[in-house]
Amino acid sequence: MSHLIHRSLRQDPPLALRGEGIHLYGEDGRAIIDGSGGAAVACLGHGHPRVVAAIKAQLDSLAYAHTALFSCESAERLADVLVGHAPGGLTHAWFCSSGSEGNEAAIKLARQYFLEIGEPQRTRFIARRQSYHGNTLGALSAGGNAMRRAPYAPLLSPAFSHVSPCYPYRDRRDDESDAQYVARLLAELEAEFQRLGPDTVIAFMAETVVGATLGCATALPGYFEGVRAICDRHGALLILDEVMSGMGRCGTLHAWEQEGISPDIQIVAKGLGGGYQPIGGILVHGRVIEGFRRGSGAFMHGHTYQAHPIACAAALAVQQVIAEERLLDNVRAMGALLEQRLVERFGNHRHVGDIRGRGLFWAVELVRDRATKQVFDPALKLNERVKREAHDRGLACYPMGGTIDGRQGDHAILAPPYIVTAAQVEAIVERFGAAVDAAIAGCG
Ligand code: PMP
Repeated sequence: MSHLIHRSLRQDPPLALRGEGIHLYGEDGRAIIDGSGGAAVACLGHGHPRVVAAIKAQLDSLAYAHTALFSCESAERLADVLVGHAPGGLTHAWFCSSGSEGNEAAIKLARQYFLEIGEPQRTRFIARRQSYHGNTLGALSAGGNAMRRAPYAPLLSPAFSHVSPCYPYRDRRDDESDAQYVARLLAELEAEFQRLGPDTVIAFMAETVVGATLGCATALPGYFEGVRAICDRHGALLILDEVMSGMGRCGTLHAWEQEGISPDIQIVAKGLGGGYQPIGGILVHGRVIEGFRRGSGAFMHGHTYQAHPIACAAALAVQQVIAEERLLDNVRAMGALLEQRLVERFGNHRHVGDIRGRGLFWAVELVRDRATKQVFDPALKLNERVKREAHDRGLACYPMGGTIDGRQGDHAILAPPYIVTAAQVEAIVERFGAAVDAAIAGCG
């Protein structure tokens, strides 16, 4: 067995040896369609020559310089590209190596901001159940994924409390309209502010579109506008985690653009560097930066590898390719096709409860009984079966288990690279459909 610690310590995963376009190749030489870009990471697919060339060029000129001593060109240019035109008032960027680090930075920046502006009593965060913000302890404290939290519960911070996410498939009552359900969620959030004391709250944190924990769960119209209004009323910040849903994945560069609001701090990662280098970051509103400038003038946080020259050069090339090749047009067009094919294939499937998503970010929720929404017995590990059956058919997809909160069904995420073609979308849905049927047949 391998000496590397894998997710499973009982079974080693297959080796990936090579990647090209939307395909990954293993030891048997078979082409596997990377139908989810890993975990919605590989937005440009694999082996993109321009990104590879940019990484090599950066390596030849400068691999590393500590940010306490120097800035570097690739980080400066990446910040210019991301916030140079101040989207939604976001004027500054900070880069790290992962989504979890981005969430940690957002949490700490938000707390320090209130010290800088003379509101030290703000010590609490409100986040959402069935959310995921990362595996480091701060991010895990913010997250509401019960399965991931459980082993570490004694280590998690009590500064975070949780309200319901917007999850109409299971949580909207039969006698409620969308608007009534949204009003109920907003009342719950307002009540949580009141319970904590509104002037003790630093921020509300949410994934704009919930990724791994719920499976591409989009908010209903009016939800985020209501959230923004509550945060503003109480002087709290709005932190949006777009690690999975952002950087074009949902068809606009930022998922919040489709919600009619903008955040005070946004976390980005996966699609930022497309997997070519480990990189995450935060985008920060000008008024937060102003608070720091008028206060101590320094963010008390940092990492040795923050704003790493090679990671930033890779992300810069990824973002340039996306912009110059107008790939978000393809995300929207192929996303519409993916939705249409999923609805055709699964709309009447007896074990598919919900099909949801946006752009090239789609999930199907699998249930034992479509009428009652009863989940499959977690012991059957349906999501693992889907993953195996898909792999056997030449497709990698991203499945999550129905054990998450004992309530969701198993779901699988499809998030192909932005370069995907119509023929490849057809192949993805065909292979995925066959894999789901075979996996369910295996459950008896
Ligand atoms: N936030 C969200 C929404 C995520 O989907 C993830 C990763 N799945 C993270 C944070 C953590 O990112 P990382 O794994 O890069 O630390």
